[in-house]
Amino acid sequence: MSRYHNAEIICPVCKKKNIVRVWDSVNVDINPEIKEDILSGKFNHSICPSCNVEINCVYGFLYHDMKHRYMVGIEHDYTTALLMTDCPDGYRFRRVKDINGLIEKINIFELELNDIVIEMVKKIVMETSNRYSKLLFCTIENNNMIFMFADQPAKGIFIPIRIYDFALKKCSKADLDEKPEFMIVDQDTN
Ligand SMILES: [Zn+2]
Repeated sequence: MSRYHNAEIICPVCKKKNIVRVWDSVNVDINPEIKEDILSGKFNHSICPSCNVEINCVYGFLYHDMKHRYMVGIEHDYTTALLMTDCPDGYRFRRVKDINGLIEKINIFELELNDIVIEMVKKIVMETSNRYSKLLFCTIENNNMIFMFADQPAKGIFIPIRIYDFALKKCSKADLDEKPEFMIVDQDTN
């Protein structure tokens, strides 16, 4: 189920009140169009009907993909709510800071990859070179993983997929352990 409520925002340009739809939770098996909006950068954008300016509404919500069996909490930790329900088996629960963090998780989980291993790959890249800042996984092309620089979205690097297999072998069972809580798996915490 997807849930939303209407919220009032003031247009930063014409100062008129706008009613916008704010999603509390998004189930992309029911609303696949929302996933497309997130991936194309249209989510969180609304157009002021009075002056046509584009307004960016940033807020936290719960992202749920039943097909790939994961949930991502954007901004909020939904663990307490999760523990009050029957926690679904075989799920991954993640917490991210913003929509870019969510997009990275979607890109990883849609390719049936493990984000814990992806973070290990980033660590290996950082250890072998000191010129990289924060990386975001994008996709796989011709046996290469493509990562973008978080601070320079137009620039990226290619890492051979064998580095993923190498990192996977380095992970212990405990490293890959999934818990019934919204875990933070990112470059800052690894
Ligand atoms: Zn306006």
